[in-house]
Amino acid sequence: MDNQKHCLITGGSRGIGAATAYRFAKEGYRITFFYRSDSESAQYTLERIRKITSYCQALKVDVRDYDSVQEAVRYAEEEFGPVDVLVSNAGISKIKLFTETTKEDWDSIQDTNIGGLYNLSQAVLHSMIKRHEGSIITISSMWGVTGASCEVAYSTSKAAIIGFTKALALELGPSNIRVNCVAPGVIDTEMNASLDDETRDSLSENTPLCRIGTPEEVADAVYFLASDNASFITGQVLGVNGGYIT
Ligand code: NDP
Repeated sequence: MDNQKHCLITGGSRGIGAATAYRFAKEGYRITFFYRSDSESAQYTLERIRKITSYCQALKVDVRDYDSVQEAVRYAEEEFGPVDVLVSNAGISKIKLFTETTKEDWDSIQDTNIGGLYNLSQAVLHSMIKRHEGSIITISSMWGVTGASCEVAYSTSKAAIIGFTKALALELGPSNIRVNCVAPGVIDTEMNASLDDETRDSLSENTPLCRIGTPEEVADAVYFLASDNASFITGQVLGVNGGYIT
């Protein structure tokens, strides 16, 4: 089933991005996903989605690079049509004391997590505004709401994503473009692979639903916000965190 709508997901090779790409493919969307370097995971995800639809392309694009992003979005739109839904998901984190966070650590986190969102939004918006339709879903984190110790750079970037979402939603509402944010809690992906068992157990214990979440549960929330079921929802932050913060 091809609904002829095009969803562009950054960081789609694995984790939450891959689950989101799969979710939209199941709903008949044409899928473009970007990844940075992990070609093996990208190929795996591409093949998995191509079992559902032939309209899936994986592009190796660093979201930090403005010109590459503009060029890749133009290419993706030539292939599959204008982007209807942007899911700006690519992100990195580093767990470090703030006093040990180098300028390089700081810049790479801000350039990826918030700079990437700027680059992608600039690339898709002209066409969305002209067509008077579209939806942008940003991916923050519950740490962007509360702040996390030893993750000052990450928490800063994720809080900025919430500010970006709310401000852009106000600006784009009259153009019939909705902008919403999903703020996941602790989700079982490679981003958390470095956590030891004790930390994982303690994070589960601190979650009222007594477990960490799955990428598919985040993907469901992303899809909901992009769908017509959320047609009067814009500028909102939806927590998907098992009740960890309320
Ligand atoms: P993963 O580390 O599993 O995947 C990250 C994805 O982002 C990969 O596809 C990676 O590509 C891509 N990526 C990273 N940097 C770049 C870049 N510069 N250009 C293009 N792509 C890039 O992360 P998750 O799936 O866990 O996280 C996805 C999002 O969800 C992130 O924004 C994260 O902050 C957020 N989040 C995650 C939580 C969690 O507990 N997992 C909790 C809250 C928020 P490649 O494979 O090539 O490296």
